[in-house]
Amino acid sequence: MEEKAFAQQRKVAVVGGGLAGLAAARALSSHPTLFDVVILEAAPALGGRVKHINGIAPWPVEIGPEFLHGKVNSSIKQIADEMGCKQRELSYPDHYYIGSECRLLKSEKALENPEIQHVHEIFSGLAEEVPPNPDVNMKEYMLSKGFTHIAIYGNDFGCSLEHLGVRECIQEAQHWTYGDTYVILDRPLSCLIEHLASGLSVILDSAVETIDYSGQNCTLKIRDGRHFIVDYVILTVSVKMLQQRVIDFVPPLPNEKEKAVNAIGMSNALKVILAFSHCFWPIDMFDVVCTDSFLPEVWATEYPTAHGKDKHMSPLGQHVLVGFITGDSATAVSLLPPGEIFIQSLCQLDAMFGKDGMIMQEHNLAIDLSKKAQFRTKSHGNVDCPNPSQRYFTRGCFFESDTLRPQDCTESPASYYFQGGCVINWADEVYIGGGYSHPSFNAHGARSTLAKPVLEKLYFAGEATHPGVNPCMQGAIDTGVRAADEIITAESRKQNNSKL
Ligand SMILES: Cc1cc2nc3c(=O)[nH]c(=O)nc-3n(C[C@H](O)[C@H](O)[C@H](O)COP(=O)(O)OP(=O)(O)OC[C@H]3O[C@@H](n4cnc5c(N)ncnc54)[C@H](O)[C@@H]3O)c2cc1C
Repeated sequence: MEEKAFAQQRKVAVVGGGLAGLAAARALSSHPTLFDVVILEAAPALGGRVKHINGIAPWPVEIGPEFLHGKVNSSIKQIADEMGCKQRELSYPDHYYIGSECRLLKSEKALENPEIQHVHEIFSGLAEEVPPNPDVNMKEYMLSKGFTHIAIYGNDFGCSLEHLGVRECIQEAQHWTYGDTYVILDRPLSCLIEHLASGLSVILDSAVETIDYSGQNCTLKIRDGRHFIVDYVILTVSVKMLQQRVIDFVPPLPNEKEKAVNAIGMSNALKVILAFSHCFWPIDMFDVVCTDSFLPEVWATEYPTAHGKDKHMSPLGQHVLVGFITGDSATAVSLLPPGEIFIQSLCQLDAMFGKDGMIMQEHNLAIDLSKKAQFRTKSHGNVDCPNPSQRYFTRGCFFESDTLRPQDCTESPASYYFQGGCVINWADEVYIGGGYSHPSFNAHGARSTLAKPVLEKLYFAGEATHPGVNPCMQGAIDTGVRAADEIITAESRKQNNSKL
C-alpha cells in the first residue's frame, strides 16, 4: 500500500545506537516519506552493550550479552531467524556448585536438595503472588519464607538480593512470555547489529550533551559543538547515564521523570573471561550456578567459527570459561587488582574441577571446611601472581599468564591449563555505566513513568523503560519499536487535527 506523506517530512534524532535505538530507527525509517531519522551514537561503534573481543579464543568472545533468553515471542530471536542463524538451545543452569561443600552437582541431583528446591519454588511461583504493598526486598522476602541459604539467583537478576524489589520481580514474572531456554547463535551478536543498522543513517562519535526542547523543535548539542534540530527525539541511553546526568535537558525533565530515573536500579556487571589450553570440565557442562563462591556463575561457551573467526591474532587458548559477577559483589571485586581476580577465579575452578573436588563428588562426600581451607591455600600457592604483561583492552584488563604452573594438572587443572584472560568491568564503560537495570526495591511504576513521552517531543526507549522489567535484548528492541509507534501515532494525530 502506498504511504501517504505527511505535509512535511518529520526529522527524528535517536540518541544511542544500541538495540533499542536501532529498533526505533528501523521502525521509523520503514516510513521514509514520513520520517527522516538519524542515530547519534556517542561511541565509535554501534551496538551499545552488544560487544565482543577477539584474541582470547578462536572465536569472538562476547563481553556483553551472550544468550537469547527464551525462544517464544522474542523479537531478537525473530531477527536471528530472519537472518538464518543456526541456533543451539541449552537449559540453564545444568549444574550447581555448592561452594561451602566444594560439591559440583548436575541440576537433576541439585534439585533433590530441599534448599535448592525451595528457592526454585519461590522464584517459579512469583507470577502467582500478590505484589506486597509496601514493597519488600528479596532478601527479607526469602527470609520471611524460612529460607536461609539465600545466595542463589540474585546474581542472575544483576544485583544483590537487598536491592531486588519483590514487586518488580512479580511484575517481571507475570510479563515473562519468552520461556526459559537459553539460545546461542552460530555467530557473534554484532552480526545482528549490522543487520539492524543496514540502510540507517548513523553518526558515530557523537555524544549528545544538551537537548533543548523549550521551543517548537528540539535542538541537540553534540560534544564537539555540532547542533541538530529535529521534531522528535528518542532517547535510548542507559538509565545509569540519565542518573549521571550526562545530558542536560532544557527545560529540566519533569520531577516525576527524575524520580523514576533515580528509582530504577542498575548495578555493575563483571565478566571474567579465562582462556585455557585444555578442556578440563565435563563436556556436557554449560552453566553452573555457584553458591558461596567468588564467581557466582560460570559458563563454558563455544561458537562455530565459520562466522567471525579472528584471523589476525593467535588466540590465548582454545577453550574458554566465563565467570559472571553482578551487583555489590561486582563492585567489590572490581576494586581488586586484576591478578587477584584471576587467582580467586582459578582457585574456585581448581576446587570445582580438581581431583580432590571430583573425588569427593564421586563419593558423594562433602569437603569439610578445614579441608577446604587447606585446599584453597594449596591452590592459591600454586597460581602465579599477576606480574606479567598487562594491557588494557576495551577498558577491561587483559592478562597473559606465562609463568609458574602447578605441578599437578589433576589437582589444580584450572591453574595448570590457564593461558590468560581478561576482566571486563561494565561500570567502566563510559557510555553505559553498569550492567543492566534490575527489578528494583520500591520502584514499582517507575519504568512506565520513565517510558512516558514529554510534551510529545521527547520519547524514551531502552531496556529500563520496559514495563515488564526484562533487562534483556528483546526487551530493549521492543521498547524501541514502542517509542517509534508512539511518534507515528502522535504525528498522525497532529496531521489529522491540522486538516480539520
Ligand atoms: C555483561 C552483560 C551481560 C548481558 N547478558 C545478556 C544476555 O545474555 N542476554 C540478553 O538478552 N541480555 C543481556 N544483557 C542485557 C542487554 O545487553 C541489554 O538489555 C541491551 O543490550 C540494552 O540495549 P539498549 O539499547 O537499551 O541500551 P545500550 O546497549 O546501552 O545502548 C545505549 C546506547 O546509547 C549510547 N549513548 C550513551 N550516552 C550517549 C550520549 N550522550 N549520546 C549518544 N549516545 C549515547 C551508548 O553508547 C549505547 O550505544 C547483558 C548486559 C551486560 C552488560
